[in-house]
Amino acid sequence: MTDITLYNTAHRRKEPFRPIDPSNVRMYVCGPTVYDRAHLGNARPVVVFDTLYRLLRHVYGADHVTYVRNFTDVDDKINARAAETGRSIREITDETSRWYLDDMAALGALEPDHMPRATEWIAQMVEMIAGLIARGHAYEAEGHVLFRVRSYKDYGALSGRSVDDMIAGARVEVAPYKEDPMDFVLWKPSSDDLPGWDSPWGRGRPGWHIECSAMSFELLGESFDIHGGGNDLQFPHHENEIAQSRCMGHGFANVWMHNEMLQVEGKKMSKSLGNFFTVRDLLDQGIPGEVIRFVFLSTHYRKPMDWTAEKAREAEATLRKWYRLADQGPDGQEVYRPVVNALADDLNTHLALSELHQLAHAGDVGTLRSSMQFLGLMADGIPVWAKEEGPSGEVAALIEDLLADRKRARTEKDFARADAIRDAFAAAGVIVKDTAEGAEWELSPDFDLAKLEALK
Ligand SMILES: [Zn+2]
Repeated sequence: MTDITLYNTAHRRKEPFRPIDPSNVRMYVCGPTVYDRAHLGNARPVVVFDTLYRLLRHVYGADHVTYVRNFTDVDDKINARAAETGRSIREITDETSRWYLDDMAALGALEPDHMPRATEWIAQMVEMIAGLIARGHAYEAEGHVLFRVRSYKDYGALSGRSVDDMIAGARVEVAPYKEDPMDFVLWKPSSDDLPGWDSPWGRGRPGWHIECSAMSFELLGESFDIHGGGNDLQFPHHENEIAQSRCMGHGFANVWMHNEMLQVEGKKMSKSLGNFFTVRDLLDQGIPGEVIRFVFLSTHYRKPMDWTAEKAREAEATLRKWYRLADQGPDGQEVYRPVVNALADDLNTHLALSELHQLAHAGDVGTLRSSMQFLGLMADGIPVWAKEEGPSGEVAALIEDLLADRKRARTEKDFARADAIRDAFAAAGVIVKDTAEGAEWELSPDFDLAKLEALK
């Protein structure tokens, strides 16, 4: 059996992975709060943990892995969206959950075995909150129930920080009814216009953190193997999950895995910088989901991932070549051993892609095909876009830009530039025909993107 090594955030080192029960390997990943389209950064953990899910299924057998990812469908952001739009909360959460699954499927992500919606597990959360009160780890105050952070001595161990350091660095909500500013909400009262459920503490709704503790316990048991999510969830969300579950006497997760954040063209993605986009925006621009997945896989999950248009173009050109080869390959070949080994080494997806380059270079089309399937790059067989003659999306945009540049150079009598573009088209295998209406182009079979990029 393949030996898997994973970096455990809780111990800050790579460790051999030993499942509690190899006949049922269990993983929980924090899912989305459903009130809007998933942005590109939201998709990174989905691809990372889908890759791990595929590896675990490969090593332990597809029927011996249980993967749970929740939908947070009770949240103040959802309430605000409902108030803004006049739509019902259920309508919004149903629609955005469906969008999420469609968009993630376009990235080749398998659906988890369980996708619990928080609002369907309120009774189990109430039960856990009551248990925490009974054990002295939580208290009721003015219709709220709060977790008593100082009652759990290991609080902060995951991120390696002391409670006092965390108070200094965090935006903790100070409220008169809290014993300590670090205490966090397990339950809060709902006014009549907000979603609420009956509880021993009056009509209210759960805080965010308790849902993951309650649903992982119900679906995976007191202890399970892997808990994953984005780096931004480590504190406070994951620290709070650990505190809640451990104080109930549960072992909770053995291995904690966190992916680093995503940037766009070297900058943090933000609405004010104008570089904020959703997965759907990219798909609508003609960038195939397989290309997005490839770009994600090209960077190790514990490194910041920089999304660039150039990477997308290169990924498309590479995939186009590979699909052409894989299309000739027979089905049912073994997955290339070095690809499995690369993933088994703390998900070294960058190395796995280099191994695919080797296979393509060697012309081993059957193994290339099975290995691309294994990496989730052929979720629905050879994608239609790869069979079409012309390139889609980013490559076409680059060629059009260069044609416009050539036209400008000619108008401005910058013949050196115009000739350089003509020569680069010839070297790259772009066949350009000038017509009365402008220019038409097509790609020769040995199109080489790198020769065009050199021109920029
Ligand atoms: Zn969570």
